[in-house]
Amino acid sequence: MKLLQSCAFLFLVMLFNNHPLHFVIVGCGLGGLAAAHCLGRAGHTVTVFEGASCIADVGAGIQISPNLSRLLVRWGLGDELRKASVKPQSITFRRYKTGQRVGWTPWGENMDRDYGAPYYHVHRADLLNMLFKLATPYMTLFLNSRVASVDPNLGQVTLESGRTFHGDVILGADGVKSMVRELVVGHPDKPIPTGDAAYRAIIPTSEMMKDPDLKPFVEHPEMTGWIGPGRHIMAYCIRGSKEYNLVMLHPNRGLREAYNVEGSVDKMRADYAGWEPRVQKLLALVSSTLIWPLFDRDPLDTWIHPSGKVALLGDSCHPMLPYRAQGSAMAIEDAAVLGVLFSHITSRGQIRPLLDAYQALRHPRCTDTQLAARLNQKIFHLPDGAEQEARDLSMRQGLESSLR
Ligand code: FAD
Repeated sequence: MKLLQSCAFLFLVMLFNNHPLHFVIVGCGLGGLAAAHCLGRAGHTVTVFEGASCIADVGAGIQISPNLSRLLVRWGLGDELRKASVKPQSITFRRYKTGQRVGWTPWGENMDRDYGAPYYHVHRADLLNMLFKLATPYMTLFLNSRVASVDPNLGQVTLESGRTFHGDVILGADGVKSMVRELVVGHPDKPIPTGDAAYRAIIPTSEMMKDPDLKPFVEHPEMTGWIGPGRHIMAYCIRGSKEYNLVMLHPNRGLREAYNVEGSVDKMRADYAGWEPRVQKLLALVSSTLIWPLFDRDPLDTWIHPSGKVALLGDSCHPMLPYRAQGSAMAIEDAAVLGVLFSHITSRGQIRPLLDAYQALRHPRCTDTQLAARLNQKIFHLPDGAEQEARDLSMRQGLESSLR
């Protein structure tokens, strides 16, 4: 019902013309950049405050599912994205100890056919650069500008330096540790440790090509997942198959901050002792690794402050485990929806209803995705035993039917 009302409202709003607003965005990650692009293109002025001294991302890969690539292609990034990416031909799940294939689904052109857009693997820095170039004409960006507080009634942000800025709307795109989120929920609200952490590493595929056991992972790019008790590994080629990205999920041992830090390669290898020989060979090629403790949060009732001037997007409102590879996709979808909604505003009085429409359109999808990611943690990490055998059997039946 709420969704229908929002759609009816959206239809009415779309009949009229634009009323330029000033948006202030806190945080210049993938979500903040996408929002700057979408709202700027919709005719609004956009100021972005970023605490870091430069726009950069960790050295790691990212999966771009069709729901995200569809938007990026629509925004004119199709060619650049294709050149920077690798298109996995399939996804394979393997048993951790033996490497036996338990699940396989063809991707490649099937993704374009079934979802109207490709599935890509890309380096995070390449995606960030693409969005940065897209957003630059539309935003005034302040680096080294950490927002210390937000006054929702005045629509004002105060930087750590003491400078203040005003906006008609303030968007918290400040990630999993969002401070804007606490303002919106009205009480202290901290990220929840999920119990897991991720090692991330990139290895040169030139090394893999020297080993006949590893060569097929480069020659036939796919998403390979090894699943075992309490741990799993996701691995895929990026950058024209010149690099191989490894994400190694395992129990977090006491890291308390959602930050990546240099990890111990020896501990990383020990974490996967006893896994199949190809995993051992891949880990032997890792020269350094980052470790990132994984936090998420419970779904929120609302993403909008009662003042109607502050709202959240991306990880600030729906941080999730990366076990569905959807965090960035959801953040960028949020931005796209905000851009469409605010492209036909005719008066300030419509700000609150438009934010309500944004929430009505986005909240159910993002909440489902957050919860599904938590469920995948259980499914992927089942201990050996009856439940794991049932899981593998169901995956194997899927494998057989897809091979038929
Ligand atoms: P962020 O990228 O965290 O950006 C927030 C920005 O706000 C940062 O630049 C920060 O410096 C800035 N900031 C914070 N506080 C302030 C402040 N007070 N003032 C000013 N600036 C501030 N997603 C996918 O779609 N596909 C994947 O394959 C995938 N794999 C992942 C693998 C791992 C191991 C992890 C951890 C995540 C993965 N994700 C993936 C999720 C994805 O990385 C996040 O969901 C996404 O980066 C969120 O973007 P964001 O812009 O909301 O937040």
